[in-house]
This record gives sequence, C-alpha cells and structure tokens, in this order.
Amino acid sequence: MFDTLLDELDAQHLTRRLTELSTGVAPVVKIDGQEVLLLASNDYLGLAGHPDIIDAAAEATRRYGVGSGASRLVSGTLPPHRDMERALARFKKTASALAFGSGYLANLGTIPALIGRGGLILADRLCHASLIDACRLSGADFRVYHHNDLAHLATLLSRRKAARRTLVVTDGVFSMDGDVAPLPELFDLTRRYDAELYVDDAHGTGVMGETGRGTLEHFHLEDAVPFHMGTLSKAVGCIGGFVAGTEPLVTYLLNTSRSFIYTTAPPPGAAAAVIAALDIIQREPERRQRLWANRDRLCAGLNRLGFSIGASASPIIPIIIGRADRALVFAKQLLLNGVFAPAIRPPTVPESTSRIRVTVTSEHTPTQIDQALVAFQRVGESIRMI
Ligand code: PMP
Repeated sequence: MFDTLLDELDAQHLTRRLTELSTGVAPVVKIDGQEVLLLASNDYLGLAGHPDIIDAAAEATRRYGVGSGASRLVSGTLPPHRDMERALARFKKTASALAFGSGYLANLGTIPALIGRGGLILADRLCHASLIDACRLSGADFRVYHHNDLAHLATLLSRRKAARRTLVVTDGVFSMDGDVAPLPELFDLTRRYDAELYVDDAHGTGVMGETGRGTLEHFHLEDAVPFHMGTLSKAVGCIGGFVAGTEPLVTYLLNTSRSFIYTTAPPPGAAAAVIAALDIIQREPERRQRLWANRDRLCAGLNRLGFSIGASASPIIPIIIGRADRALVFAKQLLLNGVFAPAIRPPTVPESTSRIRVTVTSEHTPTQIDQALVAFQRVGESIRMI
C-alpha cells in the first residue's frame, strides 16, 4: 500500500528526500563529498556553530546532564531553563516569557490555550503549517483571509456575530515568501473589531527591527501588541520556541498549554545555548548588518538577472518557478553548479508556486554571494527562465 502511495507522490514530483550535510550548517558544506555553498539555512546570524554557544551548551550538559528527565512542571525545570526565560523576557522587553521544545510546539500549545469552541480564528492564507494545525486543534471556527489582504480580513471581521471572541493569526515574516505582514494595519483592524492579534515571529526574531527584537520592533508596535511568539531555532541558532508577554499570560499558558505540560523539558544544554546566543545577538549588531547587506546584494543581483523574487523584504528570497518538476530540475542544476537551495513544493507552498527558497546569512561573504549569482544565471539561462 505504501508503495502505491509513494508512486502517486512520485508521479506528481512531490516525493521528499533527505539531504545530508556532512559538515554542519556553515555557509560552505559538503553534500555527497562535494563542497557547495549553502543558501537554505535559517541560521541567519551564523550562531549554530559559534564556539561560545557550543561551550555554553557543553558546560551545561556536563553540569546538568543531556536530558531534563521530566516535563517542566514535574522535575524538568533546571537553572538554565529559568535563566533562558528570564533572558528571553529581557531581550523581548516583556515582563515574562515561556519556552517550548520547538516553535511548532509553541504554536500548537498556545493557540488552543487562547481560543476554543465558540471562538473564531482568521488566519492569513500563507500562515505556517504549525499555525494552521494549531488553529484546527483549537476547535474554534477557522477561516483564512487572502494573503496580506486587509480588505478581505475586514470583510470577514465585519460579518461575524457581534462580541464573538476572535483571534487574527499571521506570520511576522512569511516563511516561504519572505514578505512581511502589514502589522500596523492588522493591529488597527483587530482593535477596531475588538479582536486579538497573534504574531508568529519565527523568522523575524534576531533579524527584524533595529536591535533584532523582531517584526513588532520593526513597526514600533511592541507596546501595542501585548505578546507574540518566536523560535529559537532560526536566527538564535539553537532549538525551541517561546511566547513573550505579560506574567498572567505566561502563568496561564504554563497551566493550560498542552504542548508545554505534556512533554519533557528541552535539554539544559539547549537552554544554556539560547542564553549565550541572545547575548551575542545583542552584543554584535554587526551580524545583523552583514545579514542585511548580503540580502540586499543577492536580491539586487537576482533582480538584475531578471528573476522575480516576489515581495520578499527579508533574508528569505523565493524564486518562483511554478511546476514542481521544473523546480526540482532547477535545484538539481544549482547543486551541480555548487549551490544548495532546494525546491519547495506543495503542500508547503500553494499549487503551481513551486520555488527555490533562498536564504542568506551574515556569514556569507560578498564573493560567495557573487558566486551564487553566477550559478543562478547559468541555471536560469539553461532552463530558459531568464
Ligand atoms: N513558525 C514559522 C513561521 C516557521 O517558519 C517555523 C519553522 N519552519 C515554525 C513556526 C516552527 O518553528 P520550529 O522550527 O522552531 O519548530
């Protein structure tokens, strides 16, 4: 039976395969023994391999053990967990923060804790899968609005029954398109219609805003939006997810969020790594400056070559190709030209929008960016895209 199902996937060019990077996530990696330039990692600030962060993880691991041994509410809360949440709250300038095992778990635990049966969730059509799953799990009525379409959202808000609890859900930076949600307008709409705004800032944390506090900082909305969610697995370079907000919110989530309560606490080494990473993010703004300079250089080059990169306004740059099989050919040829940026296909992205999702980091050199552009030009010309 599984063979048949896999054959069906194959016929649609939708089978997924694992690619092993034998060298970790530095910008130059080895795949099948061949050195290639990595343009697919979310380790935006190059922190996953930072020696101080590795040392912090190793030291905490030696001191407290590899595993936490139990859930946070039983015996799994160790000093690094407590210190990580304090460091997160300080970084986010909120009163409190709660850490989860991953960003996926943060969404899955938080949304159903915030809203349930009888409520209404309105989510952007391009929200991350973890948000969609969380919305479904909540038991609330769940509708999507067209991507970043404020008029459509306003229509849905105006049509609902009065006084119905409503949550509007959006990514801060969209994970597959790299565009940014119009948070000021979304915030105004939610205020006008007495709804709440839930922002998943997985890709904004460490990247957006003057000091890297995220997309809310970018829009000067930190005081207006009382809480938001982020991950520790992308620019922070580690693993985990979090919700930063008021103390009552955090205490409420700690009491009700099932993906926080019913799972073993993250490893103490991972928590210690997050503390070290947050420190570096705050002490070394030049990482963010390099990231944005690299992003601008790559976008300018891709535009010059004639690629369409959509509405990207972040280090996530989509090269929309359309058909899944064409996207696979593009990715394969890129790899032959020394660049690893895999094809992203449905259901991760909508039908007919298969793409190469390119990400840059602070650790790419301008020369590497230019090498990548040569590879994109060769492949684009060979498949007659540019
Ligand atoms: N939200 C968004 C917008 C994401 O892109 C991701 C990861 N792809 C997640 C949540 C999940 O985060 P994590 O990888 O930490 O589970």
